[in-house]
Amino acid sequence: MDYQGIIEEIAVLVEPEFGKGKVADYIPALAKVPADKFGIAVQTMDGACFQVGDAEEPFSIQSIAKVFALAQAYPVYGEALWKRVGMEPSGNPFNSLVQLEYEKGIPRNPFINAGALVITDMLIEHFPKPKTQMLDFIRELSGSDDVYYDYEVARSEREFGFTNAALVNFMKSHYNIKAPVEQVLDVYFHQCAIAMSCRKLASAFLVLANHGVLPHSGKRMLTQSQAKRINAVMLTCGFYDEAGEFAFCVGLPGKSGVGGGIVAVIPNELAIAVWSPELNEHGNSQIGIKVLERFTTMTGKSIF
Ligand code: GLN
Repeated sequence: MDYQGIIEEIAVLVEPEFGKGKVADYIPALAKVPADKFGIAVQTMDGACFQVGDAEEPFSIQSIAKVFALAQAYPVYGEALWKRVGMEPSGNPFNSLVQLEYEKGIPRNPFINAGALVITDMLIEHFPKPKTQMLDFIRELSGSDDVYYDYEVARSEREFGFTNAALVNFMKSHYNIKAPVEQVLDVYFHQCAIAMSCRKLASAFLVLANHGVLPHSGKRMLTQSQAKRINAVMLTCGFYDEAGEFAFCVGLPGKSGVGGGIVAVIPNELAIAVWSPELNEHGNSQIGIKVLERFTTMTGKSIF
C-alpha cells in the first residue's frame, strides 16, 4: 500500500476545507495556534513511518491524553476501574454537567472530562508522582523522550478551568473523588497540556493496534482484553456527541482533542495521527475527520 502517496493526495484534497472551522479559544495559549497548521503521520507495525506537513511539530494533545490516562490506570485497577466510571457513549458535549447529576457522580465514560477526572484521581491514589509517571509512561509508549508538559497551556487551563472544577467538586460530593480537588485538577490540567507531535502520537498508539504489546520493544503494557476494551471505548466514546458520525464516516477507533489532534488505530496494521487546529461545533478537528474519512476510503481499510 502506497501510504505516502495516499496521504500526500489527501493533503491536497482537503485544502479547500481550511477556514471552515474555529481554533479553540477558551484559553489564550490555544487561541494563538495558527489555524493553518497541518500534519499527518502514519506509523505502521513494522516500523515504517509516512508523513506530510507539520507531522514532527509538537502540539497540545488535550483530550487525547485521556486514552493514555486510561491505559495507565487500567492495568493497576483491572475491572474494578469500571465501578467508578461507565463505558457508555454520553451523547453530550465533553464538559457536560447535566448527565453527571442524574447519574449521581458516576461519569458515563473515561473520555468525557468527568470520566477523565475520575481516572486522574485513581492515578493519584496509586502513583506517588503522577505527573512525572504519566510522562514516563507516554515516553515508553512512544519510544521517545520528546513528550513534555507545555506549562503555559497548563497554567491557562487552571486559570479558566471553572467547569472542570465544578465537575470535580460535584463528583467529590458523591464520594467518587478521593484526592483533594486542587490536586486532581492540577494533574488533569497537566495531562491536557501534554505536547507531542503527530509522529510520536502515532507511535504511542501502536500499542492499541498490537493488542497491548509495544511493537518496538515487545513489552506487554496491557492485556489483550484491556487493549480491545480501550479500542471499543474509543470507537463508541472517542468523539463525544460526534462518536456515531465518526464511526459512520471513518470506521476506526480514535480519539480527538481540542488542540486539533486526532489519532486512530487500524488493528494489526497501523496508527495514524492528524493535526489541524480548526474545530467543528463538537470540538473535534474539522479537517482531521475529513482526512481520516478519505484515508479509510482510499485504502479500503477500516474495522468493518
Ligand atoms: N482542556 C480541555 C478541557 O478540559 C480538554 C477538552 C478536549 O480536548 N476535548 O476542557
